[in-house]
Amino acid sequence: MNNTDKRAAKHKKAMAKQKASVDAAVEAADRERGVAILLTGNGKGKSSSAFGMVMRALGYGFKVGVIQFIKGEQLSGEEIYLREHCPQVDFYQMGTGFTWDTQDRSGDIAAAKATWAKAKPMLENAEYHLVVLDELTYMLAYDYLPEDEILAALSGRPEAQSVVVTGRGGGSALREIMDTVSDVHEIKHAFKAGIKARAGVDY
Ligand code: ATP
Ligand code: MG
Repeated sequence: MNNTDKRAAKHKKAMAKQKASVDAAVEAADRERGVAILLTGNGKGKSSSAFGMVMRALGYGFKVGVIQFIKGEQLSGEEIYLREHCPQVDFYQMGTGFTWDTQDRSGDIAAAKATWAKAKPMLENAEYHLVVLDELTYMLAYDYLPEDEILAALSGRPEAQSVVVTGRGGGSALREIMDTVSDVHEIKHAFKAGIKARAGVDY
């Protein structure tokens, strides 16, 4: 056997082993229900991953709700696209009232509460296959919304509904109740090398 053949044989054996383990895991996962996903961490990719799932759900014709808990200074591509082309997506953004530097805490809290008032009914409505609560973690981190109420709504949602929460932090109680938690870790970010945020990539 030459080196190429040896390598091919080794690869085949490794793939067979991997297939057996994946098949066993697939076989073991036999429960059918919606999942709660938390995308957290300091790296880029949390919100854009959430919108990737929105696209997947839309591909199957499912009803989707998206709530953004932070008003971006910049209109985002996903907002423009969803508003223009996806009337089947119920999109709501926190809007005015929220300031990053929290100079007006009571105004922020009022905006957070008004936004939560849009999110909560979605988490009670089984028609929504997927609900995205983008940047919700900050509402918990700043103590703008009651943690117990949010956790109860997330846990008590309809069985077939999936929910995606994004944002840094959010606390251990939130992590505890979620089914899937991914920590998006920054290795490097273009912004730190002085490259400006890009339309269609960063927003
Ligand atoms: P994205 O929306 O691109 O998936 P994100 O949701 O993971 O990013 P946020 O903390 O919500 O990250 O920040 C949104 C904006 O900040 C995006 O323009 C993103 O490119 C940028 N950003 C994300 N992570 C970093 C970072 N570590 N350093 C600098 N800018 C970042
Ligand atoms: Mg984000």
